[in-house]
Amino acid sequence: MNQSLRPDKAALVELFRDFIEPQYVINDEETQKPFECDGLSVYCDMPLITVLPKTVEQVCEVMRICYRYQIPVVARGAGTGLCAGAMPNPDGVLLVLSRFKHILDIDPLARSARLQPGVRNLAISEAASPYGLYYGPDPSSQIACSIGGNVAENSGGVHCLKYGLTTHNLLKIEMVTVEGELITIGSEGLDSNGFDLMALITGSEGLLGVITEVTVKLLPSPEKAQVIMAGFDNVQTAGDAVGGVIAKGIIPAGLEMMDSPAIIAAEAFAHAGYPTDAQALLLCELDGSEAEVQEQIAEVEQLFIELGATTTRVSQSEAERALLWKGRKSAFPAVGRISPDYYCMDGTIPRSQLAHVLTEMQKLSEQYGLRVANVFHAGDGNLHPLILFDANVPGELERTEEFGSRILELCVKVGGCITGEHGVGVEKIRQMTIQFNDQELTQFHAIKHAFDPIGTLNPGKGIPVLKRCQEYRTLDRPQHKHDSQPQQGDLA
Ligand SMILES: Cc1cc2nc3c(=O)[nH]c(=O)nc-3n(C[C@H](O)[C@H](O)[C@H](O)COP(=O)(O)OP(=O)(O)OC[C@H]3O[C@@H](n4cnc5c(N)ncnc54)[C@H](O)[C@@H]3O)c2cc1C
Repeated sequence: MNQSLRPDKAALVELFRDFIEPQYVINDEETQKPFECDGLSVYCDMPLITVLPKTVEQVCEVMRICYRYQIPVVARGAGTGLCAGAMPNPDGVLLVLSRFKHILDIDPLARSARLQPGVRNLAISEAASPYGLYYGPDPSSQIACSIGGNVAENSGGVHCLKYGLTTHNLLKIEMVTVEGELITIGSEGLDSNGFDLMALITGSEGLLGVITEVTVKLLPSPEKAQVIMAGFDNVQTAGDAVGGVIAKGIIPAGLEMMDSPAIIAAEAFAHAGYPTDAQALLLCELDGSEAEVQEQIAEVEQLFIELGATTTRVSQSEAERALLWKGRKSAFPAVGRISPDYYCMDGTIPRSQLAHVLTEMQKLSEQYGLRVANVFHAGDGNLHPLILFDANVPGELERTEEFGSRILELCVKVGGCITGEHGVGVEKIRQMTIQFNDQELTQFHAIKHAFDPIGTLNPGKGIPVLKRCQEYRTLDRPQHKHDSQPQQGDLA
């Protein structure tokens, strides 16, 4: 059977309601409205039908039906993504995994947890805590985002400098293919049969399959963790200090940087005691045994002072440590209080280029007449410039997007990449043609085709279609939903 024999919307709804409770097959506009976008709300669209299955067998059946009739499927976790990866397809099914919220097993001996994909990131560490364990990757959205979404985006966070990204903390994934078959990738041991596809699936943004179970590694909670905060009177010095710590052979549990606008906004929000006259602030967390942490804190403080820190402060209690992080972790909403809108960019650069990139971004900020607040996972070289704008001012959103685009181009120019941890989705599809040449994009399509021969999994996201690459290369600004979107038919 093919697309031409596809049932109409009402018939499809009935097909799904045969095996999913009727209230979880949604097709009216009002109830579907909350699903029209993810965290990047400038891109939105309504799905044809939204389904919220509860069992893996229901997911398989949804996939089988969609495959039979060539209906696009977009998987959605908690919808906190920032690249419009979970934006619905107007001709397709939005497959929401928020009812898969059970922690299936915690194995303290194997130090692992088996999870349904809708489990919140923070809930894993909360459940593992009685065993003296926790889950390493900690996106700032961890209170809300799901482990399925984390795997699909290969999410990072403060702790990823020392403990790795999502991909480094996984043992096994269960995934439903586009045809509706349940497959297992990886194993509960450290090695598994066949090709090692774990890294391929991690960060695949819902383009290769629907993740229905995840087994993660758990880490022993450190005996001690302490944060050192250091203020600097210029960003160059702070950038050098980041390199200085790593060059010393110390790998902090987190090494984060904020520039002056971000410090001021975060301080007004969190009252963490940040020096608001500093041009740059570093937060460096050391963890390990009591003795190890004491020694390294002293070493890092000495280093920061030698490298020009104007203030330093070391957390003296867990409450103080949490407060110092509160400012950083709430920097995005804090910036939201000083501007009607902000656009969070995400690119990665070699650490050595930090100061140069910041200087160039300042020039761009003046050129575009838009303020920028910078928050970085500095240790990883992952930038989050927040461009402040007002969507109600005609043309300002377009200027913001263009500015953002220039930042990503700058990242590529200095040897970095267009995504840090937020994925490509719709947002960065144009910059894929800056980062990769046609041959490389052809290889991406070959991989996509191997998993999704009919191109119905999250179509139009992640990889630009080849015959449109030249169009993307000559465009001045990213595509909005109202501009010509790539269609799955273009894949041919
Ligand atoms: C305030 C804020 C702070 C953030 N901080 C960070 C941060 O520090 N680090 C970071 O990495 N990210 C961060 N993010 C981005 C976001 O939280 C992550 O990308 C997160 O992993 C998305 O998870 P989700 O469950 O919300 O996924 P969604 O937004 O629902 O989906 C994201 C993508 O994954 C796909 N997907 C979701 N579930 C599945 C599944 N089960 N199977 C297949 N594909 C699936 C979707 O199709 C989509 O392409 C932040 C976001 C916000 C709003």
